Amino acid sequence: MSGKLQFKFKPYTLELKHVFTVAANSRSTTPIVLTEIEYEGITGYGEASMPPYLGESHETVLSFLSKVDLSKFDNPFELDTILSEIDSIAPGNAAAKASIDIALHDLLGKLMNQPWYNIWGINRNNTPYTTFTIGIDTPEVVRQKVKEAGEFKILKVKLGRETDKEMIETIRSVSDTPLSVDVNQGWKDKHAALDMIHWLNERNVLFVEQPMPKTQVDDLAWLTEHSPLPTIGDESVQRLGDVLKAKGVFTGINIKLMKCTGMREAYKMIILARSLGLKVMLGCMTETSCAISAAANLSPLVDWADLDGALLISNDVFEGTKIVDGKVVLSALPGIGVKKIA
Ligand code: MG
Repeated sequence: MSGKLQFKFKPYTLELKHVFTVAANSRSTTPIVLTEIEYEGITGYGEASMPPYLGESHETVLSFLSKVDLSKFDNPFELDTILSEIDSIAPGNAAAKASIDIALHDLLGKLMNQPWYNIWGINRNNTPYTTFTIGIDTPEVVRQKVKEAGEFKILKVKLGRETDKEMIETIRSVSDTPLSVDVNQGWKDKHAALDMIHWLNERNVLFVEQPMPKTQVDDLAWLTEHSPLPTIGDESVQRLGDVLKAKGVFTGINIKLMKCTGMREAYKMIILARSLGLKVMLGCMTETSCAISAAANLSPLVDWADLDGALLISNDVFEGTKIVDGKVVLSALPGIGVKKIA
């Protein structure tokens, strides 16, 4: 190994097929940054996706990445050394850090000519079904979206508004498909939350994501203890150090590359969560097939996947992991398994 690592990045804006509404806001675009790390003529691809509520933006990511100097590393296989140094540049900036982590993993896999599921020793056939999110909308539009989502085996619904029961009843008027619900911290009272979970449990809901604010730790622990459905921590769980704190508060955790700085830490989080007896869900932001494919390499290790991010956009720049009849299907290409298409 004698070359130098060359690093490039550029901002990009994802167009969403439908306006996306969660408990806190609505939006129709997502800012991302695309990264490339080149070594001896081989290019690894990465991505940072920055939904506005997480505090990162084109400005913060470009500012962070401009401080990164990879030219001093001449061995890309020193993954731990390189990523630890990137992590130490500044606190936070998880999506910016993930964009380097993903590009480096893609590069290494290509140098070894193996996809990451092989490098990790993961059976590529054990991928889960992915949930598909039905956005909050008028009853007519919701019914139409549910009908169009016929191939998916689990539908995900964003709750945490006045219209929660109406939303579920609208879906149930046209479909019996199992549901997962994501409250995005929207319920504030634990007794009302428990009543709602019992109601959901009678309507074929599989689990409830982040039912209450992350600041209400005691209420979340009480709710999990009494809940007939598994509770999954998302906003409460960002990085490896948060996994231990989730024990006793949630039934499981939702790991996302953009929260935890990438594939290296996500893998460690899965191992730690399993050792603590926690369920594991693998989630995403709205992102291209680049970051989705990176996460998908880990998907055979988890209980539930929520990897529909690339299906929600109209200007993907990569091809990689596919969703076939609702199931995650890994690409056999080396690295994270993507090909650039635009
Ligand atoms: Mg969530």
